[in-house]
Amino acid sequence: MNTKSKLMSAFNITPSMIVFAGGRSCFTPRTQAECLSGFITKIKILKSDCWEWTGARQRFGHGMLKFMGKMVLAHRLSKGLSIGRPLAKSEFACHNCDNPWCVNPAHIYIGTHQTNARDRQSRNRTDRTPGEFRGTARLTRAEVLEIRAKFIPRKYSLRKLAVEYGVCFTQIKNIIYRRQWTHI
Ligand SMILES: [Zn+2]
Repeated sequence: MNTKSKLMSAFNITPSMIVFAGGRSCFTPRTQAECLSGFITKIKILKSDCWEWTGARQRFGHGMLKFMGKMVLAHRLSKGLSIGRPLAKSEFACHNCDNPWCVNPAHIYIGTHQTNARDRQSRNRTDRTPGEFRGTARLTRAEVLEIRAKFIPRKYSLRKLAVEYGVCFTQIKNIIYRRQWTHI
């Protein structure tokens, strides 16, 4: 399978994805191909099987693009395209490959506040292995305070913290910019 067909086969453009992007309501194979072609030409498959986004990048390192007239985050779009529906606002697209530019849907899982809360409750402190991927965030209050104290832009970065605490980049970003754990 060549690169293009490998990429095409990972994605599933459905009418709900087209409506999400504010696109035309007609749903034809041609519309689907048009939607995808701009997206997949900016993907480079790396040896690690990460699909690196080579298009525009936003400040925190996630790829972004205009998809049928709407600005979207590349990794969120990719996950949405692979499951055939757009992600809800309450759903986080988290990487399990520690590469914020990666848009391989197999490397992106959907995390929610609910799963985070459940995981925190069931968390066993002894299972922690530094730097190892631990699934959705299972941080304690003390760790959240630690993360905020350690963060120094460009020196003690969001990425470094994400690796250190074994949680996804988006999660760290939300903690630092107080979109999560707002009560402490
Ligand atoms: Zn990846």
